[in-house]
Amino acid sequence: MPKIYDITRTVTPTTAVWPGDGPMAYSWTAKKVDGSSVNLARVEMSCHTGTHMDATYHYDDAGVHPAAMPLESYIGRAYVATISRETGGITPDDLPDGLPHTLQRILIHSRYSDLPDDVFDENFPYPTVELIDWLATRGCRLFGVDMPSVDAFDSTDLPVHHRLKHHDIANLEILTLKDVPDGEYELIALPLKLDYVCGGPVRAILRELT
Ligand SMILES: [Zn+2]
Repeated sequence: MPKIYDITRTVTPTTAVWPGDGPMAYSWTAKKVDGSSVNLARVEMSCHTGTHMDATYHYDDAGVHPAAMPLESYIGRAYVATISRETGGITPDDLPDGLPHTLQRILIHSRYSDLPDDVFDENFPYPTVELIDWLATRGCRLFGVDMPSVDAFDSTDLPVHHRLKHHDIANLEILTLKDVPDGEYELIALPLKLDYVCGGPVRAILRELT
């Protein structure tokens, strides 16, 4: 059996969220110990809690909701690339040598993967528009990061989010790539089929190629 890496953050009430966003919460509608036939829970959470995708509606009123995002982006060959840059804008020069020429999917592994699930560090590194344009020339369909956003923490015009949409590149945010060696894998990170909203959790895994 090919090895599977779970690259998903665990979602609990203490999972870090963007400052100002609400924490995940759950409550029990029914409990076996109270005489119900099942344990039945409700969950309330931001669409951007833990490992998730952004629907284009997140940053563009003309964008689409998660249910309408193209599934092909979230499944297939993906390259994990570790960067040493700790803060500031990531350019093509920050990527490791020896990347394949075609990069349909790339997952950026930064120091952020070393942080525990309950820590938010606003000083994260973030891709530049230059990097996204460069990836587009290499056939990129999906751009994943272990950081909480693809734009700088204090960005309000979100140039990288918009550039991804311009090139039809989907994104994943808050992956956890600790202990995943650089290289090529099969990515499976299908979003929940949520309509109306702006993003959604994914269970992201990498499977070793055979
Ligand atoms: Zn997001």
